[in-house]
Amino acid sequence: MNSNIVKRNELLAQTVIKGLQSRNMSGYYAASREEALSIALSLIPEGSTATMGGGVSVHEIGLVDALKNGNYSFIDRDDYADKREAALLAYDADVFLASCNAVTSDGVLVNIDGNSNRVSAIAHGPKKVIFIVGMNKVCDDVDGAMKRARNVAAVTNAQRFNISTPCSKTGTCMDCKSPDTICCQFLITRYSRHAGRIHVILVNDNLGF
Ligand code: SF4
Repeated sequence: MNSNIVKRNELLAQTVIKGLQSRNMSGYYAASREEALSIALSLIPEGSTATMGGGVSVHEIGLVDALKNGNYSFIDRDDYADKREAALLAYDADVFLASCNAVTSDGVLVNIDGNSNRVSAIAHGPKKVIFIVGMNKVCDDVDGAMKRARNVAAVTNAQRFNISTPCSKTGTCMDCKSPDTICCQFLITRYSRHAGRIHVILVNDNLGF
């Protein structure tokens, strides 16, 4: 990565971290995917029950493999025929892992969900929530974050899963009411009432989408 971009990411991350702290959330900057994995594991005591609701970035830093191969109880929803059963287990987990559709430079988190198990677990339930967020997801403000979430994250997810929505064909959000829409719930996390619950690891890399 270009050294000027690295410097920019490092400085911008410090601004995001200050914003997160002002909202009773914790922020960390990782210079690499390896460092992000190390920070994440330092936040997850051995023996913890952990799960997630999707999240390419979590896989990209190797966190899922580390938990599966380590001394943790990882709830993998792919192991469950009944997805609702797996989703309900998340609410009582020690740790919930997620990527984020967008984060503002002053620390607001924006997430969109279709099934909505992910945003509901982020909002309430698991004792700790750890976000893995590439610096490509930092936006100026909530308006920019919402636009990114809809026009980049949601569209790419719809195309990834080959879902029958207008955006799968046009490449941009058409504000649909398709039965298959993956934009049912919008969660804007502007403050955490519970200190020590939400942790955001900002990674000097392009992760997810
Ligand atoms: S077209 Fe529909 S599914 Fe696609 S991003 Fe917009 S609201 Fe979401």
